[in-house]
Amino acid sequence: MLLDAKRFNVGTTLDTDVCIVGAGPAGLVLAAELGGRCDVILVESGGDHAEPDARALNDGDLIGDEYAGLDATRHRQVAGTSHLWNTSVAGAHGAKYVPLDALDFQRGSGRPFGDWPFGLTELHDDYARAQHICGLGPLAYDAAAWAQTGREPWAGTGMLVSRVYQLGTRQALLAPLRSAIDRSTTVRLCTHATVVALHCDAGGRRVSRLAIATPGGTPWNVRARRVVLAAGAVENARLLLLAHDATGCAANASGWVGRGFMEHPRDRAIILRPRTAELYAASRFYDLHRGSGGHWILGRLALGDAALQAGDMPNASATLLARPRVALERVRSVLPLVARRWMPGGGHGWSQRARAARLFDGFTI
Ligand SMILES: Cc1cc2nc3c(=O)[nH]c(=O)nc-3n(C[C@H](O)[C@H](O)[C@H](O)COP(=O)(O)OP(=O)(O)OC[C@H]3O[C@@H](n4cnc5c(N)ncnc54)[C@H](O)[C@@H]3O)c2cc1C
Repeated sequence: MLLDAKRFNVGTTLDTDVCIVGAGPAGLVLAAELGGRCDVILVESGGDHAEPDARALNDGDLIGDEYAGLDATRHRQVAGTSHLWNTSVAGAHGAKYVPLDALDFQRGSGRPFGDWPFGLTELHDDYARAQHICGLGPLAYDAAAWAQTGREPWAGTGMLVSRVYQLGTRQALLAPLRSAIDRSTTVRLCTHATVVALHCDAGGRRVSRLAIATPGGTPWNVRARRVVLAAGAVENARLLLLAHDATGCAANASGWVGRGFMEHPRDRAIILRPRTAELYAASRFYDLHRGSGGHWILGRLALGDAALQAGDMPNASATLLARPRVALERVRSVLPLVARRWMPGGGHGWSQRARAARLFDGFTI
């Protein structure tokens, strides 16, 4: 059920079993899973369409390392930041998916703070379910499971191993969730509803009330037995820090909230130049392609456990992006847009081209 908070009356307070803050992929999945089992209110800062006023709420000052910026990396609208996904899957907007590795849960790997309170096995059943929800193939990310004739992974070295990303379209994930929520009588999706404060009970350990602001409307509240923050990495931390500082919630007792920010910086410095045409053919596993069952996969070179442990490094993967020859790029740049699609560009899809060695001069890693 969709409710626009702009239509709420003065002094509205809604009561519910579970209040989920944020209707991005995380919030929508959780709401759809809980629908029918309990009463759910899903509060979303944006509307059903992109709105400049909602996007402006992402703004913030940047300090420290160079970063693309909050506007380029965050989005406020139903379906959240998935509106910015920029991986092309069968001509549609999509995402790369990959589960965490077992070592990601352990101390080391460049992290000064403690281990996760659980390990990878704890998540196995949820990951398997997520594969289904995201419209992906089986929970298999080692290359061996996806090898096929003509697209075989390279032999691993122990330090460097072959694995895959699975890819799926935004539509495959979001369309079923959205229709389940629109039909549900137990899930209320409230748009134009920005949570501005979490209020706790006397002990400071339980959120009892959420204060919500609506553009052009009056402040209103949700009272819930359970509250789930699914507002995205930056906004979850902002809300918790604000709650800790302003409303007496013990929301940052560890002092770690906001300090574990994780992104995926990219380094494109390395160029790989295959010496022979055969080496292009031998690299086809590492281009975007359909694996068994028709699922989209992309081979990647990952750091093996031995490399991660020996180097005490954070996890990383390398993918191969074809580089068109300079002469080809020049021709392409003067063609009208409609003709350009017949000329190979860079990135993925290169393995479908006959004579790749004549069109490309290597791979950006
Ligand atoms: C260009 C780009 C490409 C990406 N590609 C990939 C990819 O290929 N694979 C991948 O796994 N990830 C990718 N991501 C990361 C992407 O952010 C996540 O996949 C996904 O969107 C996270 O979902 P989420 O629900 O946790 O958060 P979000 O999608 O950020 O959703 C959070 C929601 O909470 C709402 N909200 C925020 N604050 C409040 C508040 N105070 N009150 C109420 N509502 C609030 C927001 O409006 C938003 O709708 C990409 C990100 C970008 C920018």
